[in-house]
Amino acid sequence: MSRILDGKQVRDAILASLKPRIAALDEAHRPPGLAVVLVGENPASEIYVRSKVKACQDLGIASEKHLPTADISTEEMLFLIHSLNQRPDIDGILVQLPLPAHIDEKQVLLAIDPSKDVDGFHPYSVGSLVANSPGFRPCTPAGVMRLLDHYQIPVAGKRAVVVGRSDIVGKPMALLLLHAHATVTICHSKTADLAGVCREADIVVAAMGRAGFLTPDFFNPTAVIVDVGINRLKDRASVERMFAGDAARLDEFGRKGTVLVGDVHPAAFANCAAYTPVPGGVGPLTIAMLMSNTVWSAEQRFGVQA
Ligand code: NDP
Repeated sequence: MSRILDGKQVRDAILASLKPRIAALDEAHRPPGLAVVLVGENPASEIYVRSKVKACQDLGIASEKHLPTADISTEEMLFLIHSLNQRPDIDGILVQLPLPAHIDEKQVLLAIDPSKDVDGFHPYSVGSLVANSPGFRPCTPAGVMRLLDHYQIPVAGKRAVVVGRSDIVGKPMALLLLHAHATVTICHSKTADLAGVCREADIVVAAMGRAGFLTPDFFNPTAVIVDVGINRLKDRASVERMFAGDAARLDEFGRKGTVLVGDVHPAAFANCAAYTPVPGGVGPLTIAMLMSNTVWSAEQRFGVQA
């Protein structure tokens, strides 16, 4: 029987551990502060931002939203970022991506004060990750490490395969696993014999954005599968193929007209050591780690040892 790695449980543990740290900061100094910048109207981004602000409110982190219209220029964005950099009550600045095409995204991310880079995307944070020195780690891969730690899944000496090499998930994930002493292989769309490479792994992290791509033949029965992918299925034929025999998911599709699936085919979960479900696996950890980074940022500012 494969073990389910429940991300909601890990999220709750992370948030519970933050509460006394937030209370201590609030008592001695002020609550941690997070500024979220969302440009223009993007329904998916609006949902993410709302969840982030709600998580702050629940925890006692001071948060504020900046909602410039889609026609804001790069210069105006830079002005906004510089003003947030100067604010002593703000510990974290998060620019919700993607930005409209006319804005120079790299320049905007580069303008964020590295000491407030709670998303961990600034080159300074990337450098600290590569060098394994203290700094902000990108939230999703950092959450995966917390999940493995929570469930006491050994990493040192294990063979880990990361499928995906994006700057926000795949590459930082591989580096974090490497720093935890795994032997790491990074795969991508040009990898030859992806299934053969994955079958060699003790831990597979899937971060591809391809619905149900990794079928049961990609895994050995002792593998731990971490499915980062979040894909929305909308056509009945795909749903019926992917979730054949899963009455609950088919019923969910019937009611909502859509279901979420990861990058791993659900049939693969039956024959592995442990896996993260989608939804409810890695997803809940990203915002928890954003909260964690914001608290850590405030602690750094006030010289508090966590
Ligand atoms: P990107 O699209 O930026 O990167 C996808 C990666 O997968 C690329 O490196 C690509 O390779 C690789 N890839 C695509 N197709 C294949 C293939 N057929 N074989 C092997 N590799 C392939 O995606 P992200 O990293 O941003 O996100 C990945 C997934 O994780 C998405 O589903 C996203 O929604 C989800 N996600 C979930 C989060 C969460 O909170 N749980 C947070 C962030 C992302 P190449 O470089 O060669 O093109």
